[in-house]
Amino acid sequence: MLAKLLLAGLAVATPQASAPDSGPDRPPNIVLILCDDLGYADISCQGSEFQHTPNIDKLAEEGTRFTSYYVSSGVCTPSRASLLTGCYPRRVHLDRGDGDAWVLFPGHHKGLHPDEVTIAEVLKPLGYATACIGKWHLGDQPVFLPTRQGFDCYFGIPYSNDMGQTPKPRGNYPKTPLLRDEQVIEEEPDQRYLTRRYVDEAIRFVREHADQPFFLYWPHTFPHWPHYSSPSFDGRSHNTAVPAFGDCVEELDWSVGQLMATLKALDLDDDTLVIFTSDNGGNTRHGARNTPLRGGKGTTWEGGQRVPCIVRWPGHVPVGRVDDRILRSLDVLPSLATITGAALPEQEIDGVDRSALWLDDGAAETGVPDMLYYFKQHLECVRSGRWKLRIADTRDQEFTGPQLFDLATDLGEATDVAADHPDAVERLLGIADRARAELGDGDREGSGQRPAGQVEAAVTLLPRPKR
Ligand code: MG
Repeated sequence: MLAKLLLAGLAVATPQASAPDSGPDRPPNIVLILCDDLGYADISCQGSEFQHTPNIDKLAEEGTRFTSYYVSSGVCTPSRASLLTGCYPRRVHLDRGDGDAWVLFPGHHKGLHPDEVTIAEVLKPLGYATACIGKWHLGDQPVFLPTRQGFDCYFGIPYSNDMGQTPKPRGNYPKTPLLRDEQVIEEEPDQRYLTRRYVDEAIRFVREHADQPFFLYWPHTFPHWPHYSSPSFDGRSHNTAVPAFGDCVEELDWSVGQLMATLKALDLDDDTLVIFTSDNGGNTRHGARNTPLRGGKGTTWEGGQRVPCIVRWPGHVPVGRVDDRILRSLDVLPSLATITGAALPEQEIDGVDRSALWLDDGAAETGVPDMLYYFKQHLECVRSGRWKLRIADTRDQEFTGPQLFDLATDLGEATDVAADHPDAVERLLGIADRARAELGDGDREGSGQRPAGQVEAAVTLLPRPKR
């Protein structure tokens, strides 16, 4: 099997004419579980004493837990654009909304460009059934919805759960729409039951497509604020500081258990590659924890962009391993392409194939990627190997930088060692310069950027409240 995978990897540079055979050589099912704002230390296998997450922990026991896994942004929209396309948010111009807005809001004229190629579109030619269940947040105009980006079906809320009238009427937001495919089927759904409804949808999709390879992209609505869980989870967690946060994390854990039980019951367990992760760091104001990392959601400190990541695929991904080598959400698309034998998108992407790291086949030390950290449109940090260089801090007017942190010994980014390592500073400044030329920085455009999707007359899915 491994030889086949490596051959598939070699072939991936050129589009393949035919899909892999069905039957014993059928490519694995893929389940990509994406929590919203789940912090580095919010699950028990990463040290949480506040939430008990036995089902997620079991994934880690039966697979590999990556402790240096990075998302491309500290907030939802740019991070999700990156995960699904393998591109930095700036390359696809979803580094921000408009003006000061960092994410997309209801009725926004912008979205992921329909010509960008998502994981679903990469897998589709191989015969995969594809579903997106949960929070999309890459544009709420019809041309930007999941059904236009390679997903056969969609069920969920198209953006954040605080952009409607829950928990109380707010601002100029329309009621929160619940969508099936491209139709609004409910207004302001009871958020207590969202996770449970997503589970029902996920299980139904898996059952209906048990006879063909499937890709389930499951971007949960929670534990993004406001926190809700179904009544049976009320008071379950030991999170006394923010009980509702803990309870909704424990329901997410339950949801993972339900899906895994379904895969086992259908005898698909060994044939399914499961990835469990988060879109950005935890929001510490709302009960999440990122310890021992500094910062959280919305920052370019490690706590904003380093999140839990577990990969499980029995017989392929080593069991019970904890791996601290760099892996990025950017790398998920090309790694899945290698594993399945799919062709990469024709346009330039930033991710690299890290499937060797997932499979731990000895080839993983070549091509270890660097990491760029953007705050909105501004390049703030670069990581290469053990070093992280902070070259800007948009929100700190006192910042004089650059600051160098040794992540091998200083995970909390407490001590600036720039003066002791001028060679490392110079090398990382060089990486930043090349990034600026390709992807831009601030008002400077990069040569490799592509336009976001735009519509002229944007509409909200439901009417805005009358003033
Ligand atoms: Mg988020």
